[in-house]
Amino acid sequence: MTNFNKIAKRIDSFRDQMIEMQIQLCAIPAMSPLSGGEGEAKKAEFLLKFLKKNGFKNIKVIKAPDLDAPAGYRPNILVIHEGKNSSKTIWIMTHMDVVPPGELALWKGDPFKAWVEEGKIYGRGVEDNQQDMLASLFVLKAFQAEGIKPNFDVGIALVADEETGSKKGIQYVLNHTKAFRTQDLIIVPDAGNREGDMIEVAEKSLLWLKFKTLGKQAHGSTPEKGINSFKAASFLVTELDNLYQIFSKKNPLFDPPNSTFEPTKKEPNVPNINTIPGEDIFYMDSRILPEYKIEEVEEEIKKMTKKTEEKFKVKVNLEEAQKAPAAPPTPAKALVVSALKKAIREVYKRDAKPMGIGGGTVAALFRQSGFEAACWAKFDETAHQPNEYCFIDNMLGDAKVFAHIFLQD
Ligand SMILES: [Zn+2]
Repeated sequence: MTNFNKIAKRIDSFRDQMIEMQIQLCAIPAMSPLSGGEGEAKKAEFLLKFLKKNGFKNIKVIKAPDLDAPAGYRPNILVIHEGKNSSKTIWIMTHMDVVPPGELALWKGDPFKAWVEEGKIYGRGVEDNQQDMLASLFVLKAFQAEGIKPNFDVGIALVADEETGSKKGIQYVLNHTKAFRTQDLIIVPDAGNREGDMIEVAEKSLLWLKFKTLGKQAHGSTPEKGINSFKAASFLVTELDNLYQIFSKKNPLFDPPNSTFEPTKKEPNVPNINTIPGEDIFYMDSRILPEYKIEEVEEEIKKMTKKTEEKFKVKVNLEEAQKAPAAPPTPAKALVVSALKKAIREVYKRDAKPMGIGGGTVAALFRQSGFEAACWAKFDETAHQPNEYCFIDNMLGDAKVFAHIFLQD
């Protein structure tokens, strides 16, 4: 039997233990204080006990101070499991925090008393992010049980605060430690699809703008005495659609492959039909390919607002509601991508593709700090929803993908 087959078989033998631990972890709701919770301190205690009981020795706890958490800190756990060669580390990072359950009436059962049904475990946090947290812990347990060493060091990062911005989580760890090296492989199993064939390596920049158009209110019967701000804003909305032509580059890594510029939210103006509105507010959500700078887009938008101001004699105030430049993408040929592809091919029999998404994964924080990181997991994408579940087979399968990578040269 090959080493991989031995490990895979051992992982299968942990099935019941993994289910039990999912249920135990769900019973410790680790919500951020920003979402009305206590933070991750109790969940971290539980995990530390597990790590010590299972013979893990190189464990570090990095506490990010947080006076809003009863413990006074947010815990981040780093574990190093020694391999045959320490010249690089293969990291698996998952997060301990969960989002609130939301409307309880929408759940079939108690979100914090996880239950098993037809090959799935239900409960808040079981997929996001405990599925792969347990995969990362039990794969190492399998290596220990078989007396097999991974080819390189393996690092397990269990972090706090992923759901509310990561400032007390991985961002804190990146700022306060030198745990990661540029040659390391960093896998963040916190995004994925049903087939398990999407490796996320890039993001678009995000720009949310508020447009406030100021005209002059008047009676509906005498529009010439006012300036219709809604009419001017409507003109501006159609002008903004030209951004699609101006920034028309396509990048096949992304779906959709182009930048997007969409008017979204609209605030109410006047309450009655017979008033010419003097003020109009709408918003735009832009997702911009990393090929463009956000500032270039803003420059074009300013030209359009100026044109509108001149044509309609209004004033348009622009406000940034959110602006997040894309991190440099992880190259599609990066080692972490090819390692994942090989392992996914072996375990799930699929050809995985590196892809970009619209924005917002925690891997971007690694990329911003100069590390190559890839997001991958086999997910049914039930995160943050009522009746969140994880396929038990995905938990075991993802553990085997990690095992395969730990055994690659
Ligand atoms: Zn997550």
